[in-house]
Amino acid sequence: MSAATLATTVAPKSALLHIPAELAFVTLDEAGEIAYFQSPSEHKPGKRNVTAIEIATEETYCFCRAGELGRPCWHVAHAAAWRAVTYRVRCQRLPLADLAAHGHSLAKYVLQAEAAGQPSIAGQLRERLDTARRVWRERAAHAAPLRFPVVLPRAA
Ligand SMILES: [Zn+2]
Repeated sequence: MSAATLATTVAPKSALLHIPAELAFVTLDEAGEIAYFQSPSEHKPGKRNVTAIEIATEETYCFCRAGELGRPCWHVAHAAAWRAVTYRVRCQRLPLADLAAHGHSLAKYVLQAEAAGQPSIAGQLRERLDTARRVWRERAAHAAPLRFPVVLPRAA
């Protein structure tokens, strides 16, 4: 990381030439603090650019040519490409009861945004709610596994 430059989040013109799906999640570091993404280099065929995002702060570092020069780059500007991953990881780390409460709050905000005629905001909140619910279901299933055989009540 020593060569990394803290990248800015100002959207550069190159952001228009790329779509978020070009930035692919690769892995978290061992401590689970940093998410790494990669994308094919447009300037050097065969090379892959690496973009790193700190989960807790969403500070971004990009190792592409522009990023190493401290200039804005599309990798960082397309936050939608990496924000879903950082959000999911944060959901995975919340205590289960807090995650459930977070989901209830999001549901309330979705309804408020819909009632206020803000479909774009409601849609963004709904995406987060879907992610939070998926993570909760995965974790809740592991927290209380079903025990078999389940004995069904029978009429006497
Ligand atoms: Zn970059």
